[in-house]
Amino acid sequence: MEIILDGKKLAAELEIRLKQDIDHLSIIAGRRPGLAVIRVGEDPASGVYVSNKEKACKRVGIDSSIFHLKEDSSFDDILGTVASLNNDLNVDGILLQLPLPNGFDETRLLKAIDPEKDVDGLHTINLGRLIKGEAGPRSCTPAGIMALLRYNNIDLEGKRVVVIGRSILVGKPMALMLQAANATVTVAHSKTLNLAELTNQADLLVVAAGKPNLIGCEHVSPGCIVVDVGIHRIQTSTNLIESKFKLCGDVRAKEVASKVRAMTPVPGGVGPMTVAMLLVNTVNRWQFHCGLSSTVSDLLP
Ligand code: NAD
Repeated sequence: MEIILDGKKLAAELEIRLKQDIDHLSIIAGRRPGLAVIRVGEDPASGVYVSNKEKACKRVGIDSSIFHLKEDSSFDDILGTVASLNNDLNVDGILLQLPLPNGFDETRLLKAIDPEKDVDGLHTINLGRLIKGEAGPRSCTPAGIMALLRYNNIDLEGKRVVVIGRSILVGKPMALMLQAANATVTVAHSKTLNLAELTNQADLLVVAAGKPNLIGCEHVSPGCIVVDVGIHRIQTSTNLIESKFKLCGDVRAKEVASKVRAMTPVPGGVGPMTVAMLLVNTVNRWQFHCGLSSTVSDLLP
């Protein structure tokens, strides 16, 4: 493998740049950027993600606040929280941490967020803007992948790309962003037949299936570039005293490493870029709300 697509390194560089922009421009704006994160229930993975986002905000100087609602909150409680954040002039970005506990209408809640504060880019209006190529907040994970590819000088024009996964969170917006960059994109999903036959035609393979170790040597052609979006905590051993875990992606990394040209590591690839793009989106929204010119447009897809 020639290139490791190092998301951790790029995210750290972006944080330095964002911090400088915030320190400088908050004097003109009269306030720092504000991000509100709504978490419902006690899902432990969500707890870790929210805490990582909070720490990242602190590092760059974004004022973040967590609204942690109980699992037995009513739909109207959450809706009320969204409404008050929509009206709060110090809040530039609102993020509803997913997944929500069973029974909540995720789509309705995402739609209730002011589209101009939708830093996750999941509002129907912002997905529509993405399809039409209009400006607006873009989903963090695919936007982070686009930034990582650009930073590593990976030219997408005319390239054959296969995206595995068609979720609203990753696969679909990813395919649209790659298409907008003039790649020829095929989307595979759980009902796709002969997956390996398809993926072997790819110059770039983006894997967002959420299935540990799904993709191996048989799926990639020599010189392919692989982006592994999946992240899984796998138990490696257990005894009476402790259980051991390791993180892995959707790709059997060791197996494909000798065959591919470039690849994202897990951890340290797509994950840090997702958080970095949340910061970029929040700064972008802050500049929009404060009437400042954007200093981050080169980072957006
Ligand atoms: P999802 O479950 O909503 O979607 C998975 C998609 O993969 C579906 O469209 C499904 O059709 C497809 N799929 C499933 N099995 C398949 C198979 N065998 N062959 C082909 N396609 C298959 O998941 P998601 O929200 O899109 O997330 C995907 C993965 O990415 C998960 O592991 C998630 O944890 C991870 N993720 C990571 C980050 C990050 O920052 N690193 C961010 C978002 C999601």
